[in-house]
Amino acid sequence: MKKGDIVVIIIIIMLALILIIVPYRKPNDNLLVRINSDEYDIHTDRVIELETLTIHIESSEVFVTHANCPDKVCMQMGKIKNHGDFIACIPSGVVITIVNGSNSYDKIAG
Ligand SMILES: [Zn+2]
Repeated sequence: MKKGDIVVIIIIIMLALILIIVPYRKPNDNLLVRINSDEYDIHTDRVIELETLTIHIESSEVFVTHANCPDKVCMQMGKIKNHGDFIACIPSGVVITIVNGSNSYDKIAG
């Protein structure tokens, strides 16, 4: 085995370690449901009754079950569960988004 081979092997091992450690994030942990300025844990089932909307958080999914708005677009948007998903009810002025609550990592990443 030549000296150069050992260097290559060490570099490969280091790269492998970096690839294992750096992207280590649990994608579905610490997600929060943000409804306007309020935040709720997505993993805790609950019903949020607003003046215009009824929002369910159930089995880590969020959906609108009742809406007073004329178009009902918010109800038709179905269930959301992933970071970055959103439901907007424009007539009611309600925006529901799923955000990462753990740290500022995703704010930097966009
Ligand atoms: Zn609506």
